[in-house]
Amino acid sequence: MKRTALVLSVLAAPVLVAPVLAVTALPAAAQDGVSPPAAASDASPVLSLPIECELDRDCWLVRYLDHDPGPGVRDYRGGDLSGDGHSGTDIAVADYARIARGVPVLAAAAGVVAGARDGMTDGQLIQGDAAGIRGSECGNGVLLEHADGWQTQYCHMRRGSVLVQEGQKVDRGDRLGLVGMSGETSYPHLHFSVRRDGRDVDPFTGIEDGGAPLWAASVGAADVYAPVVVTAAGVAGEKPDWDLVQAGRYTSGQIPATAEALVVWLRGYWLEPGDVIRYSVVGSDGTPIFESVATDEKGNRDFFRFSGTRPPEGGFEPGSYEARVTIERPAGTVIAERRFGITIAPEAAEASEGRRS
Ligand SMILES: [Zn+2]
Repeated sequence: MKRTALVLSVLAAPVLVAPVLAVTALPAAAQDGVSPPAAASDASPVLSLPIECELDRDCWLVRYLDHDPGPGVRDYRGGDLSGDGHSGTDIAVADYARIARGVPVLAAAAGVVAGARDGMTDGQLIQGDAAGIRGSECGNGVLLEHADGWQTQYCHMRRGSVLVQEGQKVDRGDRLGLVGMSGETSYPHLHFSVRRDGRDVDPFTGIEDGGAPLWAASVGAADVYAPVVVTAAGVAGEKPDWDLVQAGRYTSGQIPATAEALVVWLRGYWLEPGDVIRYSVVGSDGTPIFESVATDEKGNRDFFRFSGTRPPEGGFEPGSYEARVTIERPAGTVIAERRFGITIAPEAAEASEGRRS
């Protein structure tokens, strides 16, 4: 299976930063771990970002805790950017190439390691091995115990990357391991859970629905809620292949003048039916060489879309261009925008990017 092979080869390529540690069980719930102390204090922890990246630049909040107790879905803002029963916050990175380069997972607050698991294969779910992860949906992960019955949990980490062991003390910001694709995950992200006395808590509201966020102000997490999230965009000199997009290809911003097409693509989350995607590529003199508008019929929680054009007679004109992609909801109201430079190179420069053999 092509996709599986690619994911695994991308993830296996770099040298692992840590030896594989002993696998210890992650308690399913707080009750199985350390018993909470008497509630002498209601002090909530202040959480820093549990992943080394900058929100809205190279990582994105794409799925929140589900506040709906029934079969419905409701995020802390009353939207539906969650999944039924989703118990934490998902922070996505652009692609598998990014996690192959290594994205550190960090302790959100000081605490003690109450459980750690490593050794599970990355990409098991997308290989179709749902049975193999049953009961271990978190994948390789770490559970931290904080003061006053608070816990944080970090899931889907990369095999062989977990750096801490049960009983170890950690400070805020300490590295716990790397973002990976283990357990029940179909896209590159860190799943981060917060609990108090065994109950899931949304870090965007604290214990009370509608309360103050637990995030440190510096995280800026409360400011980045967006109805649709674009996590990657680029240009391809051919019809872009989804597997290659996930592997990080078509991100150089460059195509050769001899390319068979100029295709602008974007990847993200929470596209809805009726959303309008507008693409344009404009030369430095302001002349558009490509424009296209599409009303999306399907919508997708996890989407990949593209639009492009064939070259004019004699090929594309070499030079610098600017691409712009917007999503409108409703038509005319821009809710997401990406701009990036494109270079059309006089010769087949794309070959130097390293075509997959
Ligand atoms: Zn999640």
